[in-house]
Amino acid sequence: MASKTKQQAVSKAHGYEFFGPPGAAAISFGLPLLIYVFTFACNDISGCPAPSLLHPKSLDLDVLKQEVGWPEDGIRGFASWKATGYTLAYYLFSAILYRILPGTEVEGTELANGGRLKYKFNAFASTMFTLAICAAGTVAQGAEFPLWTYITDNYLQILTANVIIAYALATYVYIASFSVKPGNPQFRQLAAGGVSGNMLYDWFIGRELNPRVTLPLIGEIDIKEWMEIRPGLTGWILLNCAFVAKQYRTFGFVTDSIIFITVVQALYVLDGQFMEPAILTTIDITTDGFGLMLSFGDLVWVPFIYTQQTRYLSVHPQSLGPLGLAAVGALLAAGFAIFRLSNSQKNAFRTNPNDPGVLHLKYLKTKAGTRLLISGWWGVARHINYFGDWLQSWPYCLPTGLAGYTILSAGTLAPGAVRMLDGREVVAGEARGWGAVFTYFYLVYFAVLLIHRDRRDDEKCSRKYGEDWEKYKKIVRWRIVPALLQKPRNECTEYEIAQLEQWEMSNGPLSLLQTAVRSHSQVLISIRSNRKLLGRVKAFDRHCNMILENVKEMWTETPVHNGKKGRPVNKDRFISKMFLRGDSVIIVLLS
Ligand code: NDP
Repeated sequence: MASKTKQQAVSKAHGYEFFGPPGAAAISFGLPLLIYVFTFACNDISGCPAPSLLHPKSLDLDVLKQEVGWPEDGIRGFASWKATGYTLAYYLFSAILYRILPGTEVEGTELANGGRLKYKFNAFASTMFTLAICAAGTVAQGAEFPLWTYITDNYLQILTANVIIAYALATYVYIASFSVKPGNPQFRQLAAGGVSGNMLYDWFIGRELNPRVTLPLIGEIDIKEWMEIRPGLTGWILLNCAFVAKQYRTFGFVTDSIIFITVVQALYVLDGQFMEPAILTTIDITTDGFGLMLSFGDLVWVPFIYTQQTRYLSVHPQSLGPLGLAAVGALLAAGFAIFRLSNSQKNAFRTNPNDPGVLHLKYLKTKAGTRLLISGWWGVARHINYFGDWLQSWPYCLPTGLAGYTILSAGTLAPGAVRMLDGREVVAGEARGWGAVFTYFYLVYFAVLLIHRDRRDDEKCSRKYGEDWEKYKKIVRWRIVPALLQKPRNECTEYEIAQLEQWEMSNGPLSLLQTAVRSHSQVLISIRSNRKLLGRVKAFDRHCNMILENVKEMWTETPVHNGKKGRPVNKDRFISKMFLRGDSVIIVLLS
């Protein structure tokens, strides 16, 4: 059975990732535990972290349970029918919006079986619609708007509901994947990485590449694309908003830091949803199957881990001030620009290489048929888009400062404490710095994720492009972070140096001379001794030594009569061929 299904996979099946079945088990069951640990350890009852955790030697389990708000009915209290019902209603609401709101119909990239799937995109409109309702509710009822209070009051149960949905979904698509038949007219196919034959691993990594389901009245839904771009991402915004409302209910004010994070993260999500078609060229869509890894990532990890900072700030308000805001804003703008421009450039190039916006870019033709960009953003570093993405995680975390707080009972009158409306006080105290475990976790995790993702993609592209990929890597040498991971020149092989020089010729300042040679256009060269040369470049080397043709040399002479300077006179002469030393060149312009 396994060998038969392997033949239907998108491309050659390949080995285990994530350390195989043990790794898959650790992630599948360990990460939910980690989120629960975060939920309890950093809380709005005793502190972040709970005070007892700072004194592990004298830790008393009963005290700890009180400090972390452990449910009275134990594990049972983790879930509730009502919260699960509301969470399911939220998914249904998104499905209804998907069905009734207008959207663009787009064809996906070509599949290995030759087909192209159709997608309907309206995530942006759906989120805007949802946010409009929430905005109206907030205007009418303020921070007491029931959606906001319900989310923060039932956070644990909503988390559990999403964990259950993620597990159920992964199990459903795993079972359904066994009905994929070769040559089926729906272009269903299995993912190369998800047909190892190990049940746990395949359930985790995802067997089917593009599982779809047809729901009554709603119609067909591409489960992977839908889950990736809709409920979790929109949920991320909603959770943040709920924490802003909670800060207001708790303290009677809202700080610039929580507003900043909520707004910029909302913009990040809305930008992704607005550019929804760009998802079609991402690894998740083109390569990965849909299993627990993605369902858990989309539905639980993103909304619940990415909101740790606003959750924290809702209990320990921090003010950034105009300078702080400007600093984190600048960092964010830089990251966002790199992220968006690089992703759009690749997407435009992949969708239509003749798009005027990418026509000037250089590329490597591969035997696999597709082209790899070697200039523009993708010539700066491999996965420069990840670098931009990671830069953006800094301004999400930095506003929490040296995180950590302890909640004191009313009337303590601790110096430097922020008073809650119910009289309780929040101070950094001995927790100072320890809260960073929760609020900076995202930054570290995201770096690990992107480095790992870069490796996975490197392996995928190596399988797909073979020696062309090696060639590409020699031309575009840096991974994720430009220049920092550069090999020193003296450690490069001759071939690498040749490739690097070729790259520098076509991308660096010398690219101007290369263009001049190729297009046979004139250049204006300013040289030492206050002279200018107008001519055509026949050849040049990396020291800017040049052989020029049909050159007009121009200079200005000031005659001197009886010790007095006369009027300056412009002079020129024609030289049919000449050699120009690079060290006399000041500037070269294409004329
Ligand atoms: P990419 O969008 O970077 O796509 C990688 C693919 O692009 C490769 O497999 C290859 O596919 C193609 N490619 C690679 N190099 C080139 C090149 N030089 N020229 C043209 N095509 C090339 O990967 P992801 O799907 O990982 O990321 C998409 C975005 O999503 C990123 O910005 C990332 O940061 C973000 N992201 C965000 C996450 C989050 O949690 N916030 C999580 C994961 C990703 P082929 O050649 O086969 O077409």
